[in-house]
Amino acid sequence: MADSHCIFWFRRDLRLTDNKGLETALKSGKPVLPIFIFDKAILEELPEEDARVSFIHKQLCKISESLKNDHKSGLAVFHGEPEAIFKRLISEGTVAAVYTNRDYEPYARKRDQAVEALLKENDIPFHTCKDQVIFEKSEVVKDDGDPYVVYTPYMKKWKEHFEPEKHLQKTDSVSDAGDFLRDRDFPWISLEDMGFKPSEIEVPDYDLSTSLIDNYEDTRNFPAKDGTSHLGPHLRFGTISVRQAAKKALDSENETFLNELIWREFFMQILWHYPETVNNAFKKKYDRIPWRNKEEEFEKWKNGNTGYQLVDAGMRQLNKTGYMHNRVRMLVASFLCKHLLIDWRWGEAYFAEKLLDYEQASNVGNWQWAAGSGVDAAPYFRIFNPMTQVDKFDKGRNYIRQWVEEVDTDSYPDKIVDHKEARERCLETYKEALN
Ligand code: FAD
Repeated sequence: MADSHCIFWFRRDLRLTDNKGLETALKSGKPVLPIFIFDKAILEELPEEDARVSFIHKQLCKISESLKNDHKSGLAVFHGEPEAIFKRLISEGTVAAVYTNRDYEPYARKRDQAVEALLKENDIPFHTCKDQVIFEKSEVVKDDGDPYVVYTPYMKKWKEHFEPEKHLQKTDSVSDAGDFLRDRDFPWISLEDMGFKPSEIEVPDYDLSTSLIDNYEDTRNFPAKDGTSHLGPHLRFGTISVRQAAKKALDSENETFLNELIWREFFMQILWHYPETVNNAFKKKYDRIPWRNKEEEFEKWKNGNTGYQLVDAGMRQLNKTGYMHNRVRMLVASFLCKHLLIDWRWGEAYFAEKLLDYEQASNVGNWQWAAGSGVDAAPYFRIFNPMTQVDKFDKGRNYIRQWVEEVDTDSYPDKIVDHKEARERCLETYKEALN
């Protein structure tokens, strides 16, 4: 029988550098077989030109090339149901242990429990590592052990616990850490093999330059300026580690950028403690709101045809690029829930389909924030005025003109609702439901 080896299971950590789980697997002393599984259950829900699937596939090609060229090894890529793939892998009788990085989303937790149980039946240990965040689960909680549900005290406690030398310690380079399994060939899987096509939408590179971070506080609110890092998809798929991003943030005296990375962890620990918020309002009584849910209005919102310029610009940017500026995300989300009284879950699902940086914790958290039902949410009676938002954040209307070409012509649609009337309607509906 062949010598035993261990498996490193890549998921949302698609890199060979500074990858905690991979380093731990390599240090086990056994050669490591790296694998990735395209999960059929997830892929089935996605359109055939999904840009995220293309991006993942491209990253896997890069990892595989580098494993071939530098380590005479390779990456085994599968398409199927994770438990079934593991059954096949362990049937060979050579798997000594499986390593992976922890994933905190409810679906991933269930999947991992099932895989762990299967491995246990076969006496194979399943080792999981913290990699995706600096603090996970209950590492930053109140003194009485309860999770924080308000951002600012969470952020302060996060910073109290944070020791850069300890928490940002980079892992050893893969070559120093151990060996990969050599000379095992697995058939490569193309996008087409899985029923997908390369997407025309590309994930842009991130910008973590000193000048971007130093100026971030002044530029981040203006969608016409390219003043944010575009880190989203890279953190989502792990093409950079959060530690590397945090290190860059610390190089600047301005803490605003670091605070944004902490927002990400805030929502991740919320999802960990309250997985039911994926479908239910965090503040339960908000589930009593009688949403109007008008399909034709939802269509207009999705396509950027509401007649509200900044809302439409944002939705068209999303549809064309898979990205929308944060300021505008806040506005379009508020507009959907409050002006149109459409259930935040509909908007959340549409963002999930389109965003390159879609992250369940941040998406659900921010949507519930916009609807008023979430943690640390704006009070429901604070309703963004879509016109004054233009004056504040896109005064020159450069962003609007970039995305809504016909905005100053007769073919631009009339307003879907009157702002004042919609505002009144929202206040009445919320008030009645919440009383
Ligand atoms: P930067 O401004 O450069 O920020 C750097 C990083 O900090 C981001 O990449 C992100 O990881 C984190 N961050 C910044 N703002 C937030 C925030 N409010 N909440 C959580 N993390 C934050 N972000 C996602 O990553 N995935 C989502 O699915 C997502 N959905 C959203 C839905 C709505 C309705 C709203 C209002 C916001 C959403 N955000 C989401 C948060 C934010 O809009 C994006 O993280 C940001 O626009 C991504 O661009 P960037 O990488 O250039 O961000």
